[in-house]
Amino acid sequence: VAKKDRLIIIGGGLAGCLAALALDELRPDQDFLLIEGTQSFGGDHIWSFFDADVGMDERRLIEPLIVARWSDHDVRFPNRYRTLPTPYNSIASTRLDTHVRSKLAPPRYRLGASVTRVATDHVELKDGELIQGTVVDARGPGAMPGLHLGWQKFVGQSWKLARPHGLTRPIIMDATVDQREGYRFVYCLPFSSDRILIEDTYYSLDPALDREALRARIQSYAREKGWELAERENEEEGLLPIALGGSIQEYWNCAPGLPRIGLAGGFFHPTTGYSLPDAARIALLIARQENFSSGALHTLLLSEAGRLWRERRFYRLLNRMLLHAAAPAARYRILEHFYRLDAEVVARFYAGRSDGWDKLRILSGKPPVPVRRAIRALAG
Ligand SMILES: Cc1cc2nc3c(=O)[nH]c(=O)nc-3n(C[C@H](O)[C@H](O)[C@H](O)COP(=O)(O)OP(=O)(O)OC[C@H]3O[C@@H](n4cnc5c(N)ncnc54)[C@H](O)[C@@H]3O)c2cc1C
Repeated sequence: VAKKDRLIIIGGGLAGCLAALALDELRPDQDFLLIEGTQSFGGDHIWSFFDADVGMDERRLIEPLIVARWSDHDVRFPNRYRTLPTPYNSIASTRLDTHVRSKLAPPRYRLGASVTRVATDHVELKDGELIQGTVVDARGPGAMPGLHLGWQKFVGQSWKLARPHGLTRPIIMDATVDQREGYRFVYCLPFSSDRILIEDTYYSLDPALDREALRARIQSYAREKGWELAERENEEEGLLPIALGGSIQEYWNCAPGLPRIGLAGGFFHPTTGYSLPDAARIALLIARQENFSSGALHTLLLSEAGRLWRERRFYRLLNRMLLHAAAPAARYRILEHFYRLDAEVVARFYAGRSDGWDKLRILSGKPPVPVRRAIRALAG
């Protein structure tokens, strides 16, 4: 099928679906096709974000996907318990799947269609079918040559409890837990009075995930809290990239000329590995373009990736402090020290919008890591 200026988005995960929804909303006349290899959109995930992470336009795009919202959240460290007033929201992949199917008619999407060959102007499916158009790669996480990475890795389980857990707000970080493989924290989202997502999370230089150990630690965390786990509803796991250094240009050079979005394009917050805010913003950026040629989209997205990479240098520096300057058992102190700051500074940090003053304040005070190692980490 040859169609001029048809957009082909490969990958119906978070970034691909948001781009398709934005095109559908803002450019109803633009021909596009969203191709997903599995039988549903979005995989099996919960994605969360703070109110401050997204602007008004992005918020409008993702609002129908929100399944839970809390007006504030907690963090816990050995020497600091704090409730922050920034609202937190969760999106479920099941809702994304239903929403995409209800908004887009099947000519605009294909499920169960695995792409085996990719060029800038066509793709080939597993069954040999060729589809022509301007290709946008949204195939999600993969190897990221050119980037130096650490990892945020976790196993999360959703449980129905025998009795209410008593939480009224999410615990974004409970770092009062054992830190032997630190930086370790537990993340809890109370979806209702007796349903909760519990995630055992690590910042590490080692991507290996010991699933059984993490599952056992979720059980023992629940036991310590007095939560009686009745029925497991779901399990998810993550290996999210944490940027330490490298060159985004070198990474993009691995697929010359191919426009890329989502994790495939290196669009993620360097410290959290979260990509939802970038995915929503890039979706709208694409939908607002006049020129949908491959060359124009590649130039646009590569320059956006480069701009963000430069702008977010500070976060890579902090990541090096966390993962290189501090011993694993002491890493939590960097976050404990960070959470002394005003809620607005913390919110801008998570949004990737820290200003000059924020950066000074984040770095000020007695360093919670040995000075020599800090200087080495700062130097990269
Ligand atoms: C368990 C988990 C929880 C996370 N939680 C958060 C969070 O709370 N907030 C946040 O901002 N980020 C979160 N992230 C990080 C990040 O936002 C997600 O990984 C996000 O899904 C990345 O979006 P993406 O579109 O780039 O990739 P994906 O969502 O992974 O989508 C890629 C899609 O491409 C499809 N695909 C791949 N290859 C092909 C092919 N050859 N042919 C056809 N289709 C193909 C895949 O099946 C998949 O559906 C989480 C990640 C994980 C794993």
